[in-house]
This record gives sequence, C-alpha cells and structure tokens, in this order.
Amino acid sequence: MKEPQKGAENSKTAADALDQLRVVLVRTQHPGNIGATARAMKTMGLSDLVLAAPQRPPDERSVAMASGATDVLEGLRQFGSLAEAVADCHRVVGVSARRRGISLDVHDARASAQQWSSDAPDAGRTALVFGAERTGLTNEELALCQSAVQIAANPEYSSLNLSQAVQILGYESRMAALGGVAGSHRPRPADHATMEGVYQHLEAMLVDVGFLDPNYPRHLMRRLRRLFARAEPDKVEANILRGMFSAVQKARRP
Ligand code: SAH
Repeated sequence: MKEPQKGAENSKTAADALDQLRVVLVRTQHPGNIGATARAMKTMGLSDLVLAAPQRPPDERSVAMASGATDVLEGLRQFGSLAEAVADCHRVVGVSARRRGISLDVHDARASAQQWSSDAPDAGRTALVFGAERTGLTNEELALCQSAVQIAANPEYSSLNLSQAVQILGYESRMAALGGVAGSHRPRPADHATMEGVYQHLEAMLVDVGFLDPNYPRHLMRRLRRLFARAEPDKVEANILRGMFSAVQKARRP
C-alpha cells in the first residue's frame, strides 16, 4: 500500500499496520455498498477487500459508489465462503450490531483497534468481518470469529449502513495505528534516579521560597510527583526543570 504523505517515517509504519487489516464482506446484497466500502477503506488507508459469497457481484453501482476508490474495488478478491476468505488470517473479528446471543467477547471498536494495531509487524493478518445488510452475521459465521466488535450506537436504532460501519472501524484502526507510531517515537522518559533528583530539588526550592513548610508538608510533594509523572518528562526536560529551580533559589539569595 502506498501512503502518499509527508512525515514519511511515521506514516509508513502506520501504513504497515493498516496493511495487515482485511475487510471481509459476507453475503452482501447491494453492489452499491461494495463500492461505498471501497471508498471508506481508501480514505482510511486500507486496501485489502474480500467478498465472501456476495449475493450480487460488483457492478456499475459499485463503481459509482466507489468514487475515486476504483483501485480498491478492482483489487478485491472473491471467495465462496467466509472460511476461505479468512483462511490466512491469524485473527478474525466479527463486526456485529447485535450483542445478544453472541457467545464471544464483545469489545468496542476503539479498544479492538488498539489491540490489533499493537500487533508485532510479523503477527499476520487480522480480518474484520461484516455481515449482510438485512440479517447481519449468522451464528455460524460468528462461530468462525475469535472476538466480536460492536459500534456504540443509539440502542434504539443501532444498525448502521454497512459501509458506514466499515468507515468507523477503518477510522478507529487508523487512529490506533497513528497513535502507536507517535507513541513509539516519543522521547524516552527520564529514568527514576533523574526524576528523584528533580523532586528533591523541587522540594528544596519550595522550602527556600516559603511555599512548602517542612514542618507541615501535607500532601504537596506527593501531588506534585503525580503531576510530573503524568507528563513523563524526558531527560532534557528534567534538566530544564532543575535549571529553573536553581534560578529561583539563586534569585532568592541576596
Ligand atoms: N440487521 C442487521 C444489521 C446489519 S447491518 C443486524 O441486526 O445484525 C450490516 C453490517 O454492518 C452488520 O452485519 C455489521 O457488520 C455492521 N454494523 C452495522 N451496525 C453496526 C453496529 N452498531 N455495530 C457493529 N457493526 C455494525
């Protein structure tokens, strides 16, 4: 898959994660939905589209709905059954509007996307399996899945259009993939000893300026530690903090 974007390194790695995802449409009724799915996929950087036993083959309605995503449409593959469509996938996730009667773990889209985006690069493919428009996934189809995803929707009207369900799963996958990449490029947080030095210096400085009464410290240092821990400063930031504390201490002294 090509990702014609700047920020080359980040998007390449996210693209690798998205390349591991396959969208499987089972027994789809409306050819227009196949095209709309291709479009939804392409906007999110997905390209592996597979049809399992479609009720009608893709036609000019699919092309119309695909808009500029005809490459995804042209690249799709068809199989006679769901089992064949997912045979080479290491994880098979059923995307279902219904929770009732499903004997699998049901996750929300965001949590699931985070799970598969954190897979090792060589972990293999994940299939996202979407059911037919009228009936959704049957129990036999769900039995081929290891887990299920439900999109949190209005409980009184929870059935999305098929391609819109693909769009949401695609978006969550993309965000998770980009987040994973951003996360791994973040500078390493300063080590424990460095941060202990920061906290001791902070405490000494706060005593110097009269903000912290050593005889009545209450929970101030514990709270400040929690605040700094949340920010996960790196080594350079830890040094900046120490420099600031020294400057405050120096300004206090005559
Ligand atoms: N009436 C069917 C809905 C089919 S909609 C049913 O009750 O299951 C077609 C497909 O879109 C579904 O099989 C599912 O893959 C997806 N979909 C639609 N709404 C969804 C939701 N709220 N959560 C998860 N998947 C959904």
